[in-house]
Amino acid sequence: MSLQTKLVNAGRKKRYTQGAVNAVIQRASSLVFDTIDAKKEATENRTKGALFYGRRGTLTHFALQDAMVEIEGGAGCYLYPCGAAAIANAILAFVKSGDHILVSEAAYEPTQEFCQHILKDLGIETDYFSPLIGRYINKHIKPNTKVVFLESPSSITMEVHDVPAIVKAIRKVNPEIIIMMDNTWGAGVLFKALEHDIDISIQAGTKYLIGHSDAMIGTAVANQRCWDTLRERSYLMGQMCDADTAYMAARGLRTLAIRLKQHHGSGIKVAKWLANHPKVANVNHPALESCKGHEFFKRDFSGASGLFSFVLKDHLTDIQLSDFLDGLTYFSMAYSWGGFESLILANQPEELAKIRPVSGVDFTGTLIRLHIGLEDPDDLIADLSAGLDRIRLHKNKTNALQTLV
Ligand SMILES: *Cc1c(COP(=O)(O)O)cnc(C)c1O
Repeated sequence: MSLQTKLVNAGRKKRYTQGAVNAVIQRASSLVFDTIDAKKEATENRTKGALFYGRRGTLTHFALQDAMVEIEGGAGCYLYPCGAAAIANAILAFVKSGDHILVSEAAYEPTQEFCQHILKDLGIETDYFSPLIGRYINKHIKPNTKVVFLESPSSITMEVHDVPAIVKAIRKVNPEIIIMMDNTWGAGVLFKALEHDIDISIQAGTKYLIGHSDAMIGTAVANQRCWDTLRERSYLMGQMCDADTAYMAARGLRTLAIRLKQHHGSGIKVAKWLANHPKVANVNHPALESCKGHEFFKRDFSGASGLFSFVLKDHLTDIQLSDFLDGLTYFSMAYSWGGFESLILANQPEELAKIRPVSGVDFTGTLIRLHIGLEDPDDLIADLSAGLDRIRLHKNKTNALQTLV
């Protein structure tokens, strides 16, 4: 079955749809047992799809969980209230005081902060590695290393990991280490994490699964050896999401393939246009050679989503950033992505360097991150073109960072 067909049909069992096309929205805390026998059976099967208590899920949750396993593979999918909860709880399920974890230095900033604050206070040590480390990750593994956390591509500088080399090197040193990946950029479909022997594929479903910027959810799909531990420990942490949000994520799946196709095509079109713009130094789009790890993207991914970045030749002042960004028509400024709409954010290299603890950054201009939505890419190009043209030298304005040449 092709992915497109799978996304349309995943999880739509008769038990969940009850005669409709979509799964029912079953809102429940209490699930009622008619007999002592029914209560006993539900209790025994509470981790295997029996209706037991709201926190273990209802038909709506089961439909989404089944769908995610059909799509990503693995033994089970746990649902969380947001992506950050999925990341934190997946890591917490597999570490204890005295352990060590390895995290890509290009991982989502709150992931790094979770390690620096919560894990540190629990006596769990974090080391960071370059996203381009490949097989040399083996040099960072300690006897107490329990988890390696990947994110590919990273969500600002867009480096793509050599996942097969990293996984092989880790397994050779210690096959017990749990390898997790923040797989949000690929929406769980453009990169098949579990087929690459990653143990847990995590998504901020907030992005492409929901796809409409109107709800938040996190998913973690685990293989057989991790599923029971992930599920039970997440459950004990009180992790769950409401039925309405689970429904919206499942609805998002039905259009995911067609949305991603559009994000892919439009993103590449805009990226190629930017690569030829005189104010642009570099374009970090995984599908272009100018992106670090492009060769791994070409080998391991089946397509691109809509998120990428580019670096300007100049380090823009705040006034110049306003010239460019305040007047855009179709791009909004927001800390998110994955919806139908286009978004834009600026990052200064000195700020980014602070969250790249191993490598720092190797560029001096302002980085602009784009999410290319479902608008006509020609309209988006016209919007960006006009914005870039608005950037001016502001003589006599006292802004120390002005380096426009
Ligand atoms: C947004 C995001 C998250 C966090 O997801 P939330 O649903 O906002 O908690 C995690 N990882 C990446 C790469 C993200 O972009």
